[in-house]
Amino acid sequence: MQHAFDYLIIGAGMAGEAAAQALREADAKAGIGMLGDESHPPYDRPPLSKKLWKDGEEADIWRPIDKARADVQLSRRATKIDRAAHAVHDDKGDTWKYRKLLIATGGTPRKLPSGGGDFIYYRTFDDYQRLRRSVKPGARIAVVGGGFIGSEIAAAMAMNDCKVTMLFPDDAIGARVYPESLADAVTAYYREKGVDVRAGITVESGSSTAQGAQLKLSDGSTLAADAVVAGLGITPNVQLAEAAGLKVDNGIIVNEHLQTSDPDIHAAGDVASFPAPALGKRIRVEHENAAITMGARAGKCMAGLDAPYDELPFFYSDLFDLGYEAVGTLDSRLETVEQWVTPFREGVVYYLDAGRVRGVLLWNTWGQVDAARDLIASPGPFDAENVRGRLPAQA
Ligand SMILES: Cc1cc2nc3c(=O)[nH]c(=O)nc-3n(C[C@H](O)[C@H](O)[C@H](O)COP(=O)(O)OP(=O)(O)OC[C@H]3O[C@@H](n4cnc5c(N)ncnc54)[C@H](O)[C@@H]3O)c2cc1C
Repeated sequence: MQHAFDYLIIGAGMAGEAAAQALREADAKAGIGMLGDESHPPYDRPPLSKKLWKDGEEADIWRPIDKARADVQLSRRATKIDRAAHAVHDDKGDTWKYRKLLIATGGTPRKLPSGGGDFIYYRTFDDYQRLRRSVKPGARIAVVGGGFIGSEIAAAMAMNDCKVTMLFPDDAIGARVYPESLADAVTAYYREKGVDVRAGITVESGSSTAQGAQLKLSDGSTLAADAVVAGLGITPNVQLAEAAGLKVDNGIIVNEHLQTSDPDIHAAGDVASFPAPALGKRIRVEHENAAITMGARAGKCMAGLDAPYDELPFFYSDLFDLGYEAVGTLDSRLETVEQWVTPFREGVVYYLDAGRVRGVLLWNTWGQVDAARDLIASPGPFDAENVRGRLPAQA
């Protein structure tokens, strides 16, 4: 069957939903189509590793896609973009013609090379529901990965009285992001909360049986678990774009108007590599804030408005009762300057490179995201001495 829309969106996720709303606002009469390969309409992903484990309020996660009056087709996978015909083909044999197309396909979790088929590579609401079935007091949960998703899930499982073991190759939780002292403090804090943190350990192989999973670990030991959850990062879903001949380099390359190398095709969210003038480079981020703001700008641009994406997105996370917001590049290999009100409980970490502030970690420090963005945009020069005290700034 053939369908035709003014605007077609591939990916019924956070960026896609924001784009649909912006398109509807800009163009009341337009035909808007959306193809999503999950069986669920667009929803917020961040609560899957945080809020849902505190209050279980599943009704709160759904995004208001109805308001966009789009034709949302679920359980439909786009399989090919035919740029010459301005058409997308799907896995059910249908063809979707478009005037302007948005690719908002997000990313796919990385897998363990030798994992059992039942491991939960945590990304979707279905993954949440699967994990939920295993979670009860005393359940043995193995969490593989010490980054954002791994540390959030481990905290969530511990708060639900599970017996949690965390496994990751680095020396400490968040070692690639936090300065060493903070990563060590976070790791000690997890241990205090009862998490069995095994740093420097990788999973060599795993198998699943009716009784649960058996993991063989790099230190020669074995670990039995009722469920294994892995947070190993994602790879952007660029295959459709690549096959269509669009420019791709760790994400689909877009300009400030979120246009790909084909002016009738835009990209937004986790899949897009966009210019970040304040950092002096192109970046691809996996942030809720970026997905929503970039999706909305892409929608406006598709509708013909001049709405360049000029924001530096921020990220946030919750770890037990610690929380933070972060802007820019958080890479523990950069020079870091720590400024604590209370060590490892409240403060600011600046990430410096070549006389500029490249990233800011606001640790239990709120209302400072815009001030952090301004600091990153500022030419400096900054060093360990003169950067101290720049934040918190007066609101
Ligand atoms: C558990 C979890 C917790 C998170 N917590 C935070 C947080 O605290 N703070 C933060 O800033 N960010 C967080 N994030 C990241 C944030 O959720 C993502 O950045 C955001 O979801 C990206 O939106 P997106 O629309 O680009 O991609 P997605 O939300 O992944 O949506 C893409 C959609 O496209 C679909 N799709 C892919 N290919 C096709 C195809 N060929 N045809 C049809 N559909 C397709 C996918 O299945 C998916 O439904 C978290 C993510 C997860 C998974």
